[in-house]
Amino acid sequence: MSDSDRVVVIGTGPAGAAAAVILGNAGFSPLLLEAGSGNAHLGLTARIRGLTVAKLKPPLRLRDDLATTDAACELFEELAPGGLSNHWACAVPRFSRDDFQDAARAGDEYTWPIGYDDLVEWYERIEPLMQIAGDGRRAARLPSGRVRRVVALDPEWDAVAREVTDSGRDIVAMPYAFGQETTITRAATQFNAYTRLVAPRVRTGELQVNYDAQVLRLEYSPASRRVTAVLCRNPRTGAQTRIACRAVVLAAGAVNSAQILLQSRSADFPLGLGNSHGLVGRYMHDHPLGKLVIDTGHKVRTSVAAYITRPSLEKTKPLYAAACMQWGGAAAMARALLRGGKADWIGFSVFGTMIPTRDDGIALEENRTNGSRARVSYALHYPRDAVSELERTRDDVMTAMRRAGWEPRERLFVVEKPGNSVHYGGTCRMHASPQFGVVNAVSRLHDVENVVVADSSVFTTGPEKNPVLTAMAIGARATDRLAWDLRAGDL
Ligand SMILES: Cc1cc2nc3c(=O)[nH]c(=O)nc-3n(C[C@H](O)[C@H](O)[C@H](O)COP(=O)(O)OP(=O)(O)OC[C@H]3O[C@@H](n4cnc5c(N)ncnc54)[C@H](O)[C@@H]3O)c2cc1C
Repeated sequence: MSDSDRVVVIGTGPAGAAAAVILGNAGFSPLLLEAGSGNAHLGLTARIRGLTVAKLKPPLRLRDDLATTDAACELFEELAPGGLSNHWACAVPRFSRDDFQDAARAGDEYTWPIGYDDLVEWYERIEPLMQIAGDGRRAARLPSGRVRRVVALDPEWDAVAREVTDSGRDIVAMPYAFGQETTITRAATQFNAYTRLVAPRVRTGELQVNYDAQVLRLEYSPASRRVTAVLCRNPRTGAQTRIACRAVVLAAGAVNSAQILLQSRSADFPLGLGNSHGLVGRYMHDHPLGKLVIDTGHKVRTSVAAYITRPSLEKTKPLYAAACMQWGGAAAMARALLRGGKADWIGFSVFGTMIPTRDDGIALEENRTNGSRARVSYALHYPRDAVSELERTRDDVMTAMRRAGWEPRERLFVVEKPGNSVHYGGTCRMHASPQFGVVNAVSRLHDVENVVVADSSVFTTGPEKNPVLTAMAIGARATDRLAWDLRAGDL
């Protein structure tokens, strides 16, 4: 294959890893460009049947090079192989049919050009890579996935489950990647996307990775109306390289993918590639997050974490909903084990939705496209109603527990700053119309055919569920379509 026939994937986080696997399976040998070092110390995780017994973890850092930011919001990133999957909790719920319908009823601006049925095949292809432990049961607002190990909640939850139906909710076991496996991983989580999906394929020669390759911009050729090369900089030496390519899969995370496009200025795209309608970087969303600890007055087995779903559509306003994800951390488990595997308190992350607006997101403050990455301004705000929805969810859960005969008392409820969930999305949103979207239904830039955006930046809205599985499924679908078009000679 000549250099200019190469397909380049930018980033080795979950989105880049899924795209690379699909391209590798399709017979392409993509080149992955990773800003982080190949020698990065990722940590160590040891687990016995899903219980973490040892963990070494590098710190998760706030991005500190922003030009302006509102003190009320924060932005995290990890420039290392695997990206933020070196820190994540490995929860992998599917989006549900309702999540797409919820967006559609909010109006055209929020309507996804794809729905749940478009993704089923891709969930089915990605889930086996993640060796999921989850509930075999289908809940109204959490479709069951292809799980490797079926787990069940403590029957103590049954009475609470009956009561939450009043608020249109359901309770199921949360699906987790490598959730019940016995593993030792050279990473800070049991599923770092690089360690699990990329590194083994590098060893067999299926994939190739250039480390210390921070992409600054994509080079657009007006003659071919395509991106024909990627410009990278080695963050350690400052050396720059130009990598010719036939197509690009952008998977640098919802902030950095948008930033790369904004930095890709040319005479044809003076505001950045894909930014003809000024949408790149806008409509950013993260989950409003409440941390809730309840003294339950009742002993419950905690080895399988509960997920209390969002309410049904008729019980909520468009794009306002929240769900509860029970904490399953090693410390909570250890304390419960000392009490015979049961605990009398439960912690939850209450994740809500927010209506994305044009005012939230990142914008370029400086154009340093020839030197290093530019500084960006950043703003993210939760509407007041989004916080009320978190409070309503807390109240629904406490009420259901009370009616089930538990004696719940709220020990803690805090609403975190915007950006604290680190579930960023929306900055290169997907929409049928270029007026409202940067990419089309197969995640290709409306402006340029040979660029796919494969990460959660394409989310049109941010349903209350953790984003990784759906980002990987959408990215895999888009990359497969790219492979078809490349093979057919259409690109
Ligand atoms: C504490 C914590 C817990 C979480 N728990 C969950 C969870 O349970 N479930 C869930 O679904 N999500 C969870 N998340 C969110 C999840 O980790 C992210 O949504 C996910 O990792 C995003 O994947 P990505 O591939 O799009 O981006 P990232 O994981 O950010 O990966 C981006 C990759 O691109 C590279 N990169 C960036 N810029 C450039 C550039 N210019 N050139 C080349 N390479 C570049 C980075 O080094 C990195 O390898 C959690 C996050 C945190 C912090």
